[in-house]
Amino acid sequence: MHRPGIDPENVRMEDVLCDFCAAPWAEGVPLVEGHRGAVVCGTCLTNAYRALVLESRGTASPGEECRLCLERRNEIMWLGATGASACLRCVRQSAGVLAKDPDYGWKRPV
Ligand SMILES: [Zn+2]
Ligand SMILES: [Zn+2]
Repeated sequence: MHRPGIDPENVRMEDVLCDFCAAPWAEGVPLVEGHRGAVVCGTCLTNAYRALVLESRGTASPGEECRLCLERRNEIMWLGATGASACLRCVRQSAGVLAKDPDYGWKRPV
C-alpha cells in the first residue's frame, strides 16, 4: 500500500508500505507486489509461509478477502499485524517469486 496522503505522481521508495506490517520499503528489503498496489515484505512472507505452508496453521478466518489477490478463497489464510489477510496460494506464489530474485537472497523458511 502507499503511505496515505502522498502524491501519486511522485511515489518514493519509503512511501511504499507492506500491507501486512506497514513497514516502509527500503534498500535491501524484499517486497512482492499483489493486485492494486498491495505489497508483502520478506519478513511477513517468512512468517506467513511458516504458518500456512510448514505448519498448515491459518491465523485469519477462511473466507476473508485476500489483500494480494482480492479473492475470497476457501483455504487457510494468514493474518498480518495490520489486519490484512493473505491466502495460501498467494503466500506460495509470492515465496516462489521472491526466492527466484537473486537481488534479495530471500529463502523459504524450512
Ligand atoms: Zn511486512
Ligand atoms: Zn490471495
